[in-house]
Amino acid sequence: MGPGPVNAHPRVLRAMSADLLGQFDPEFTTYMNEVMALYRAVFQTENRWTFLIDGTARAGIEAALVSLIEPGATVLLVRSGRFGLLLSEIVERCGGNIVTVDAEWGEVVPMSAIAEAVATHKPAVVACVHGDTSTTMAQPLDGLGDICRAHGALSYVDATATLGGMAVETDKWGADIVTGGLQKCMGGPSGSAPITISDRAAEFIFARRHTEKGIARDDLAQGGRARIGSNYFDLAMIMDYWGEKRLNHHTEATTMLYGARECARIVLGEGLEARFARHAAAGRAMTAGLRGMGLTVYGDDTHRMANVTGVFIPEGVDGEAVRRRMREDFEIEIGTAFGPLQGKIWRIGAMGYNAMKHKVLITLGALEAVLRAEGFAVKSGAGVDAALEAWG
Ligand SMILES: *Cc1c(COP(=O)(O)O)cnc(C)c1O
Repeated sequence: MGPGPVNAHPRVLRAMSADLLGQFDPEFTTYMNEVMALYRAVFQTENRWTFLIDGTARAGIEAALVSLIEPGATVLLVRSGRFGLLLSEIVERCGGNIVTVDAEWGEVVPMSAIAEAVATHKPAVVACVHGDTSTTMAQPLDGLGDICRAHGALSYVDATATLGGMAVETDKWGADIVTGGLQKCMGGPSGSAPITISDRAAEFIFARRHTEKGIARDDLAQGGRARIGSNYFDLAMIMDYWGEKRLNHHTEATTMLYGARECARIVLGEGLEARFARHAAAGRAMTAGLRGMGLTVYGDDTHRMANVTGVFIPEGVDGEAVRRRMREDFEIEIGTAFGPLQGKIWRIGAMGYNAMKHKVLITLGALEAVLRAEGFAVKSGAGVDAALEAWG
């Protein structure tokens, strides 16, 4: 019950035990096409270019950024937590010229501030994080696409932590590239990064492609595009592999594809709305339960992520001792925190297969017992009762 990875759905694990297929086997390419269709629905988009990057969520982030950012291009980063800082680190390596619009950890950046920064800096790319698990806050993204389009910028969103658990509305936001991972609300293991790319972003990326002979474009002086500085994460080559051309690139990670396909089938089988409601109920119950125990929940309720809750470690309680007892006595893992929040809060998740009533209640019951054992007075049953009531 941490901020991810979390327990995978048993159906996903079973799907991943199927035998391997060759990457150009017609049965396998059919699965690839199915994955593209399934993830269009998961990302709530019509984007033709919707597929998987082989690697953890960070591989999706890096593929998007290295393919979108030409050396020297101005990139606006919207940052309010650790994953915003990760964007900086990657953009710097891509040779981007970084400008930022920041919020304090625990807060979000108002869309008006993003609009102002876009108008001032005229960036080529705007990059942001939807749910930053480090702070447990979700950045509102309505209107992002209009602002970017008005100034000719392409936009990127890291939705790793929210995909499959909160509404990731690619087309409604007007976001050009959105990436995710499986190990949070999608209920799978880490190792595959779903990605969706708008036509206009794909066109930009294809213009950075090698020529058919594999020779880099040398027409930069004539206003051509710089070639993408990575082979593995070259989205133009990866699109040529997933598209009708089926040009060989890497060997698709067969087993991860089975897993990603099953994750999406489960998500869509449950239904996006039902799934978001289940995560919201789990978040509501967790928050109410923690408060019922007399603990202080971190951050404001308006922008709280549904699937991970920060809670202050009470005065005089050893946060690591509590985590150890939770794991050793109850087999439940809860999360620590990073940066300015390290040693101050725990982060307790309820994601994907773990966003279930009994798991939330058992976690709260266990935490109560552990807190009492660590000398913090909690009325027996207070957290569980409050959570039961809040679940509705
Ligand atoms: C968990 C998380 C990641 C993790 O990336 P991995 O490469 O899969 O470890 C990236 N971004 C966000 C917002 C996350 O919450």
